Formats: sequence, C-alpha cells, structure tokens
Amino acid sequence: MRKWKQNEAVLQSVICNRCGKPLKVENGVLKEGCLQVCQTFGYFSAMDGTQVKFDLCETCYQELKKSFLIAPQEEEATELL
Ligand SMILES: [Zn+2]
Repeated sequence: MRKWKQNEAVLQSVICNRCGKPLKVENGVLKEGCLQVCQTFGYFSAMDGTQVKFDLCETCYQELKKSFLIAPQEEEATELL
C-alpha cells in the first residue's frame, strides 16, 4: 500500500499489504526491496474493470513464492531503474 503526498508527486510511505511492515522510504524514494503489483483486469475477466494494487516486502514475496506450484520466472536484470 502506497501513500503519496503533494498530489501524488512524492512517495510518502509503503506498507507491505501482507504483513503490515513499513518499508524504508527516504525523500520520496523507496529504499528497500518490494514487489509492487498494479493490475487492471480486462474484459474477459470476472473482475473486468477492477484495478488491483498492492505491495509485498521481500520476506512476504519469498513466502508467497513457496506456495506456487510453478516458480515465478526470476532472472538477473541487466538494467536497473
Ligand atoms: Zn511483508
């Protein structure tokens, strides 16, 4: 869950939706690993038009990943943003 200030221009806080841990944010910059999900379900979904947003800390991502039958694709990124 992300909170913004100044009309969404500056990131104020990020809280893991699964465990409630506040992630480190300094001067509007997230300084901790986080899985950010922002997905809008489309026409062929029962959730058509619903936008889902949540954030997970790294620990919760690792825990969630253990529940997957097929592991998510993870590879080393060559360009970091
Ligand atoms: Zn968490």
